[in-house]
Amino acid sequence: MAAKLPWESEEILSLRASVREFTSKYVEPVADKIDRENTVPEDLLRAGADMGFWSMRVPEEYGGPGLGVLEAAITVEELSRASSGYALIAVVSGSMVVYPILNYAGEEARERYLRKLAEGGIGAFALTEPCCGTDVAGLHMTRAWMEGGEWVVEGQKIFITNSAYADFFIVAARTGKPEERHRGITLFIVDRGPCVEVSKLDMMGYRGSGTGIVYFKGCRVPPENVLGEPGTAFKKVMMTLNEGRIVTSASGLGVMQAAFDDALRYSMERESMGRRLIEHQMVQSLIAEMAWRLETARLLVYTAAVKLDRGDADAPRYASLAKLHTAQAGVDVVRMAMQVLGGIGYSRESRVERLYRDIKMVEIGDGTNEVQRMVIAKSYMGKIRMAK
Ligand SMILES: Cc1cc2nc3c(=O)[nH]c(=O)nc-3n(C[C@H](O)[C@H](O)[C@H](O)COP(=O)(O)OP(=O)(O)OC[C@H]3O[C@@H](n4cnc5c(N)ncnc54)[C@H](O)[C@@H]3O)c2cc1C
Repeated sequence: MAAKLPWESEEILSLRASVREFTSKYVEPVADKIDRENTVPEDLLRAGADMGFWSMRVPEEYGGPGLGVLEAAITVEELSRASSGYALIAVVSGSMVVYPILNYAGEEARERYLRKLAEGGIGAFALTEPCCGTDVAGLHMTRAWMEGGEWVVEGQKIFITNSAYADFFIVAARTGKPEERHRGITLFIVDRGPCVEVSKLDMMGYRGSGTGIVYFKGCRVPPENVLGEPGTAFKKVMMTLNEGRIVTSASGLGVMQAAFDDALRYSMERESMGRRLIEHQMVQSLIAEMAWRLETARLLVYTAAVKLDRGDADAPRYASLAKLHTAQAGVDVVRMAMQVLGGIGYSRESRVERLYRDIKMVEIGDGTNEVQRMVIAKSYMGKIRMAK
């Protein structure tokens, strides 16, 4: 018998089935409420912690589920099929927060914060500032300096997912001069406490992910909460974003799949001019156009995940290829799904209306489409490869 593809293994199929069982029971019934109220109910947050979603990539030695990148991607895909806002909590806490702690923290901080996640805590990744999103090397609105043997972190971040729920934040702060650009940035772990203030934002999609503005008002941070040498954060952030891009793309896949499912079902049920919609050639064309976009995106996302799991040198290129393709194809697929549904698709009565707002995020978060183009081109120039 021919070898199975990595994403068709028994383990992956059973992981997918268990997440789907959970979402159909607990997430789908409240997905519209999460979107409407822009928050996840407390009991569902706790259930996600019990399922290990907020600590997906924490290794078993620290008490976590120890998922690989492919397994995390498939978990997020399934969560996003039900509620992208709920899924985004896992993208950030279970992947983008775990990566820098696991790879760059000392043993004391690893033990403390990875265990915290494994025990149900939630983390946030605070990089973007009002001045600077794409221009990571330009960030300067959050600064840190040494005072009495401790670091002091002061400043502001924006669009920080999970900020409403997080127990701690990974914070990129300027520790050198702004002119030093990428050489003067340091990563810290900052505990939530009285020095942290959060103002939640009213985003268009991925609602419920607790995205907000965060103010750090003179937070005292012990030296063991610095991730790596001061001034070396830029590369660490880029490495974290590789994984983030794959898992965010997987979230886009889930949104696309949900839109495709709704469009296909509707086209089989609704009749026009004496025939079901699916029997009209122009509707068939829409279904086929959606299907190739969805399936090529799926192949790219899973391939990128396998490459990152293996530590392949070209994994960053594939992460950006997956992200760019899923974002663009995703926006197309959900637009076409709305077309198949007609007026009902444009109304709040349909799930597609929510998915249409959600999918746009994939073109922006974790690096915009333009950034992915830059990374892809630079990877062919030999400038971007895997590094520790
Ligand atoms: C729902 C959501 C959740 C998010 N969660 C997080 C989070 O948890 N943590 C976090 O740190 N951030 C988060 N972000 C922020 C996100 O990563 C940034 O919005 C994104 O990187 C773009 O930055 P910006 O908004 O400052 O846009 P800008 O950088 O101002 O870019 C604006 C436009 O200009 C283009 N552009 C900018 N520079 C260039 C250039 N050099 N060449 C070509 N085009 C360029 C961009 O592609 C974009 O189209 C989130 C955003 C959203 C929408």
